[in-house]
Amino acid sequence: MPRALITGITGQDGLYLGELLAAKGYEVFGLVRGQSNPKISTVERIIPSIELLEGDLRDLSSLIGALEIAQPDEVYNLGAISFVGLSWKQAELTGDITGMGVLRILEALRIHTQGDMSKVRFYQASSSEMFGKVRETPQRESTPFHPRSPYGVAKTFGHYMTVNYRESYDAFACSGILFNHESERRGHEFVTRKVTRAVARIALGLQASVALGNLDSRRDWGFAGDYVEAMWKMLQQDTPDDFVIATGETHSIGELLDVAFSRVGINDWSSKVTQDPRFFRPAEVDLLIGDASKAADELGWKPTVTFEQLVHRMVDSDLKIEKIAASRASED
Ligand code: NAP
Repeated sequence: MPRALITGITGQDGLYLGELLAAKGYEVFGLVRGQSNPKISTVERIIPSIELLEGDLRDLSSLIGALEIAQPDEVYNLGAISFVGLSWKQAELTGDITGMGVLRILEALRIHTQGDMSKVRFYQASSSEMFGKVRETPQRESTPFHPRSPYGVAKTFGHYMTVNYRESYDAFACSGILFNHESERRGHEFVTRKVTRAVARIALGLQASVALGNLDSRRDWGFAGDYVEAMWKMLQQDTPDDFVIATGETHSIGELLDVAFSRVGINDWSSKVTQDPRFFRPAEVDLLIGDASKAADELGWKPTVTFEQLVHRMVDSDLKIEKIAASRASED
């Protein structure tokens, strides 16, 4: 039975990846930080066979301890401060967890494997935010980076550390440069989920409108369930490498609003959306569109969920969640 350790198990991708690996027959270990983390019950419900270990990407010895217990064949480093907006407000913390955290887990792995880093396969969750002020479109593995947020800068550090440990210590280390991916498990702070939740609440009469930032921002959005499959495929290759994972399509926030509102029968949403300068980014990224042809050729990976299907499943899920919450509130 192969063994895998996932940092960031309580996050969107951690849950999908944990489910995927458990279904493939892996013994799955998840790193959880803090005392009585409220998300533990969700993880245990979705992945009943999971073994949870305490640890924090800010604490090297806790990472070494987790590796000693898990004895993993594969390590997936998904833990991060992952919300770009927050990274300007908490730049130092983002640098420490999203950037230095990668170095710490690589160091923990080097110590754990006594220098033979080829023994354990390592995946680093890198991001399209590293491209920022883009140098070419679409972006591919060879496109130079120009990050535009503390998050993007921290991810770029983590990416180069991963490449450096591969080159310095022969680590089987892969960096997945993933474009935005979403699902009904996305955190409420991210714009896709903020929109689908608000649309559900507006349709149910629970709120009147939603305040957003720049409606013209465009992103390459895929489905998280597809993207964790790509992470696993990267670690099954004969040699470690870096891959862009993306749909190759771009959509604006305005299009996201069109699809989400029309799902609940609202075709003109202009009176239900306001723009609030607080949600504008201090420095915006340019047009992010990924070229995932290397992943298609070498991993046989392709996205299976369209933009429209993704938005529909998120709206449908939020409608269910909000209906249950509203009926509970009326019983109290
Ligand atoms: P997410 O939902 O925000 O999850 C982040 C995870 O990191 C949570 O489990 C969180 O645990 C954990 N974490 C935060 N600080 C930590 C620390 N000090 N030590 C250990 N764990 C810590 O993010 P996601 O969407 O699943 O993304 C997974 C990874 O892919 C992240 O690294 C993200 O930056 C990267 N990525 C995501 C996307 C995307 O579109 N989703 C695109 C490119 C790259 P708590 O429950 O304790 O907070």
